[in-house]
Amino acid sequence: MPVLVMKFGGTSVANLDRIRRAAKRVAVEVAKGYDVIVIVSAMSGKTNELVGWVSETSPFFDAREYDAVVSSGENVTAGLMALTLQEMDIPARSWQGWQVPVQTTSAHAAARIEDIPPANIEAKFAEGMRVAVVAGFQGVSPEGRITTLGRGGSDTTAVAFAAAFEAERCDIYTDVDGVYTTDPRISDKARKLDRIAFEEMLELASLGAKVLQTRSVELAMRYNVRLRVLSSFEEQSDEAGTLVCDEEDVMENRPVSGIAYSRDEAKMTLVSVADRPGIAAAIFGPLSEAGVNVDMIIQNIAEDGRTDMTFSCPVDQVANAKKAMEGAKASGEINYHELIADTDVAKVSAVGIGMRSQSGVAATMFKTLSDEGINIKVIATSEIKISVLIDRKYMELAVQALHDAFELEKAD
Ligand code: ASP
Ligand code: MG
Repeated sequence: MPVLVMKFGGTSVANLDRIRRAAKRVAVEVAKGYDVIVIVSAMSGKTNELVGWVSETSPFFDAREYDAVVSSGENVTAGLMALTLQEMDIPARSWQGWQVPVQTTSAHAAARIEDIPPANIEAKFAEGMRVAVVAGFQGVSPEGRITTLGRGGSDTTAVAFAAAFEAERCDIYTDVDGVYTTDPRISDKARKLDRIAFEEMLELASLGAKVLQTRSVELAMRYNVRLRVLSSFEEQSDEAGTLVCDEEDVMENRPVSGIAYSRDEAKMTLVSVADRPGIAAAIFGPLSEAGVNVDMIIQNIAEDGRTDMTFSCPVDQVANAKKAMEGAKASGEINYHELIADTDVAKVSAVGIGMRSQSGVAATMFKTLSDEGINIKVIATSEIKISVLIDRKYMELAVQALHDAFELEKAD
C-alpha cells in the first residue's frame, strides 16, 4: 500500500480534543488506502517547560540527560495519538525513536539522522497495522543514548521518514495554512503560495520564516520529498496548503516569490585590520570555533595596507564573537583598532528562483528602499536572494514596501 507521512506540530496536539481532531484527519487518509506514518511533536509549550526544568536543575547540564528529559514530551503525544486511533478502531501503535530505530549521530541536542531502517515498521504494516505513530524530534546514538535533533526537529523526523519509506507525500500540519509571500502579521497583503520550490523554501526557512525547520527542507530537497504545509484547524481539500516541491513543478514565473526578514541581527566591524594574505582566515576561523554563525561579510578597500572588515551574525552571538576576536588579538593572530557592534539592525531579503533569469530585481529593491528613506548598511546576494541589513526600526516598513514593489499580493 502507498505510504503517507503526516506530521502534527505542537499546537495540533495541544490537548486531547485536538489530538482527536488530528486523528480524524489520519482516519480520512487511512480510508483512502494509505498506510500512514504519523509523526508527533510534544503538546505546545511542553518542550519549553522541559528545557526550563533542565536548566533550573543544572545550569551546565549533561547534554545526554537534557535529551533524556526534553525528548519525553513527544513520547506522551505518540502514546495518546495511538490510543485515540485505537478508540476509532484503526489498528495503530506508537514507536519511540530508539524502537524504530531512528539512528542518529551522538551530537546531543543537535543530532543528525543517519539512517532509519524501515524493516520493523514495515513488518507491522504487513501484519495489518495501518498507522505507525512515531515520536518526532528524537533518536538513538551509536552509544545507545537518546538524542534530540534540535528545536523544531520533528519536521526533520517527518521528512526523513518520508524519504526512508518512499512516501507519496509528507504533510506537515501546523497552525498556519501554508507558506506566505511574507509574514501576514507584518503585511496584510501577504498571500498564501500554492507552490514553492525547495530552494526558495530553504532561503525563507533559514531567513526566519519559521514554518519549517531548515534541516527538514534540506533533506526534502536532497531526497525529493514532496512536502505539504497545511493547517490542522481548517477543513482540508487535496489542494489545501502549500506544496514545497521541485522547481519544475512550480507554475509561477515571477522574479521574487517572497520577502523574508530576520529581526535580531548584529553588524560587527573590525576597524583597521592588516590587509595581508590569511587575514580572513585568522578572523573567521576563531569565529567559527566559537560557534558564531556569520552571514554577510564585507571587506572594504584597503588604504595604507589596512582595511575594515564587517560581518553580520545573530544578535545573541555578539558576546561570543567579541570574546573570540579579543582572544585572537591577545594571541597576536590578528590586530585591529576597534570592534564596533551595531546591534540595532535587521535583515530583509527578497527571494525567488525567477531571479536567475530575470534582471532588475536588485535595482527595484534598492530604489524601493531609497524611496522610503531607508539606508542600506550591508548588501549580500546569491543566485536566488538579495539581502540587506537596515536599521531595525525600519524593518516592517521595508518588508511592506518591497512586498508592494514586487506586486506579491497578486496571484499569477
Ligand atoms: N517539540 C520540539 C520543539 O518544540 C520539536 C518539535 O516540535 O518540532 O522544539
Ligand atoms: Mg515546528
